[in-house]
Amino acid sequence: MRPTAIPFALTVCSAIGACAMPSVPQARKVGLFEPAGPNSFRPPPPPPRDDGRLPDTAAPLSYEIWLHVDPSQPTFRGRVAIVVDIPQPTFYVVLNARDLHVTGAKAITDRAPLGLAAHTSARLANGGLVAEELVLAFDERLPAGRARLEMAYDAPFATDLAGLYRVEEDGRWYAYTQFEATDARRAFPCFDEPRFKTPFKIAVETPTGTVALSNAPAEPSRTASPPAEPSRTASPPAEPSRTATVNATYFETTPPLPSYLVALAVGPFDISQGRTDPFSIRVVTTHGHGQMTGLALETAAALIDKLGDYFDMSYPYAKLDLVAVPDFAAGAMENPGLVTFRDTLLLVDPAHATTSIKRSQAEVIAHEFAHQWFGDLVTMQWWDDLWLNEGFATWAEAKIVDAWRPSFGATLEQIAGVQGVMDTDALESARAVREPVRSTSEAKEAFDGITYDKGAAVLRMIEGWVGADTFQRGVQRYVHENAWKNAGAEDLFKAIDFVSTQHVGDLARAFLDQPGVPAVFVNWSCSGPHAGKLELRQSEWRPLGEGQRGVARKWTLPVCVASEGQSAQSCFTLGAEPIARTLGPRCPTWIYPNAGEVGYYRFILDRRQLLTLAGAGRALDPAARLGLLSNAWAGVRQGAIAPRVLLDVLPTFDGEANRFVVEQIVGVLAGVEHALVEDEAHLAFERYAAARLIGRKRALGWGVGKVDPNDDRALERRTVLWAMGQIANDGATLDEAETYAEMWLKDATSIPADTAAVAVPLASIRAGFRRLDELRAAAKRAKTPQDRIVAIRATGAFGDPAVLRQALDVTLTDEWKISELRYVFGEAMGRRETRASTYAWEKENWAKLRVRLPGSLAAGFADIAGTMCAPADRDDARAFFERETQGMEGVRRPLDQALERANLCIALRRYGADEVTKALRHR
Ligand SMILES: [Zn+2]
Repeated sequence: MRPTAIPFALTVCSAIGACAMPSVPQARKVGLFEPAGPNSFRPPPPPPRDDGRLPDTAAPLSYEIWLHVDPSQPTFRGRVAIVVDIPQPTFYVVLNARDLHVTGAKAITDRAPLGLAAHTSARLANGGLVAEELVLAFDERLPAGRARLEMAYDAPFATDLAGLYRVEEDGRWYAYTQFEATDARRAFPCFDEPRFKTPFKIAVETPTGTVALSNAPAEPSRTASPPAEPSRTASPPAEPSRTATVNATYFETTPPLPSYLVALAVGPFDISQGRTDPFSIRVVTTHGHGQMTGLALETAAALIDKLGDYFDMSYPYAKLDLVAVPDFAAGAMENPGLVTFRDTLLLVDPAHATTSIKRSQAEVIAHEFAHQWFGDLVTMQWWDDLWLNEGFATWAEAKIVDAWRPSFGATLEQIAGVQGVMDTDALESARAVREPVRSTSEAKEAFDGITYDKGAAVLRMIEGWVGADTFQRGVQRYVHENAWKNAGAEDLFKAIDFVSTQHVGDLARAFLDQPGVPAVFVNWSCSGPHAGKLELRQSEWRPLGEGQRGVARKWTLPVCVASEGQSAQSCFTLGAEPIARTLGPRCPTWIYPNAGEVGYYRFILDRRQLLTLAGAGRALDPAARLGLLSNAWAGVRQGAIAPRVLLDVLPTFDGEANRFVVEQIVGVLAGVEHALVEDEAHLAFERYAAARLIGRKRALGWGVGKVDPNDDRALERRTVLWAMGQIANDGATLDEAETYAEMWLKDATSIPADTAAVAVPLASIRAGFRRLDELRAAAKRAKTPQDRIVAIRATGAFGDPAVLRQALDVTLTDEWKISELRYVFGEAMGRRETRASTYAWEKENWAKLRVRLPGSLAAGFADIAGTMCAPADRDDARAFFERETQGMEGVRRPLDQALERANLCIALRRYGADEVTKALRHR
């Protein structure tokens, strides 16, 4: 490395052209780990703060960043100038840096216009495992007021898809960033907290033939002819490849951004231009993939307009680029103006893509675009309000996609998602939606289902309570009042209260500040001593296997019920005291205790009421049918409903044709199989499951031959066929899957993508070694990212343990991208028959997996502990993962939750497996 090759100040000033004060090359260079200097009068630096924030030594006002990024090299280098406000005279400035080799740092102030050199040292932040705070120590006090901090550094490209990282595809190199939550500090020294929103002026030097993109547009005049860098002529010729041919791109100054939203992409991109007015929309792909961008461009234009209407404010940034990233840890990231996506979500060929990927694309685009206003324009103060950011964007997915394409059923999909997150929320180890975040690790752990799905559910409940129009006016008020600033949940509640004259904060707090799922006991009767009365009382939904809680949790619950013969719902506020209401002159035959599934609670009915409700059939809307099944299964797991009653309820849904309800049926069958079906009852259970699904399978077929205009049917078909093969172990279904898999392997366009997505993995269940080779070849030659995923996923589905082992061995090589490994393991961990061999393989290969998956990526493997349902297996998994994940970030809570899930499964099996075995025998 040549940290001194280019005089630092000269480069920053000339490259960015914005130096406000004179600066000179630095007098001395101080290494990152050199101890603070010799000044014996200097007090010790302020210690790391317990709350994980930076000590209050300086606050950034603006950044200038110059980066040299050549993705074909293992390292990059940069210089940054940060204008800061210093609140009181200080010897120290503490900011964030991680894995950066700082080669020089100084401060320029009115008193020291030539610059005051800093001694630099790195240290751990609160709860940290690696150094993340950079302490600049000065030999004399910096005065209060403005100062300009200048730093030069070099750093490795990250290898774990976070920070600034590089990816090779087809022999070409690309670099991308992913900074949320705390990885901007791996690309440049910064005050890496969301409360610091400042303008960023960025310039990037990249190899010729590449394009550099960032949040703001490039300055047209300056990119056309990059100015000569005078300093470069002085460079020694040691690294000609790095300096011989370069492009310089100067970006316009951004509006105020927090560091986690700064973004950069570099590479030989193909760029598809969508509409240009009133702002440019483009899709950016790796070389040669520009032909698959049409659907994304169309979807993006429609959704950004819908969101603009919702917020009553047009898109707030200068341009909108959507970047398809070939290797990406998350699904997508909302960087303003430069939204990044996993490429499989963006590059969708409508003729050959699955229905689910087309819908996911719309939902993910809606989510990231909603953040442009909610999160980007108005930003949380700190990570404890992440739920508002993510909960809102998740809520908006359904709201906006429903407004655009109601047939997608986005709201029902969200309702189904809430049922899942309630299971997590009921765990003893669950966290509250809003909880203190005191470290990088806790910030990373905050990105979970509680934040996204419970956050969204709470917002949906508030929307239901105040009314959709009022809620929208409150959101608009919040966004308009806080534009370009930071704000939090209380500000949103204030805005909604202002337009609604309600007190939504009071209602929300019990859902935000404590974990747990309320349960509503519902009782009504049309005869006997309580005839004509509806009684409601609340408690908490606690699955079997959870201990007693010392203090009962209470909520203020908005409860709305629907009933037979009533078009309007009746709403109540249910507090700690039970309530009783008269039902009116005509006693309804059924009552549905959570109209529209808007309330965040579960309900408990007795056997008679449950069967009455199930008998109402199509008189219930799809949300109620879905909720009824989900609540019945929750009742079993709580010990309030006998498992055999559930086995009686399920057949009342035979012939159900709404795909979300069908998915719920399949979900309940999978849950029963996992926890309640012992090996000796498995055959009988397979017959029971097949009987629930065979009617739908006959009606739907495999969807081959003619184009099915009904997308929903394609999705329902996938669910039904998957369950017939996986759960019911139906021989005919597996034979048919093999026939279609062979057709697909010969020609991936010969069958519909939806059919391939289910047939190819199902066929692996009974296939041998040859199929593994065929799938690997198919992945290599895949024409679309989706075809590649089908092949990769199918390698995790082998039923033969020897073949599965060999398939898992492939994950240790670089044949699959890091972000693709989840497909293999998702499949292998998801099946009852292959879990044990997958776990055994994981244990044997743990050291190699850790090398392949640096950082916290390996933490996901601890999930397999949650699939255990026998005490010995659970204990083994606990001992193994507790030992092997020590020192890993973001793994503590997921592991606790996985082990707790195993406990619940064990308790449920004890409670109900005998009964289910008997009931299945007698059917
Ligand atoms: Zn988000």
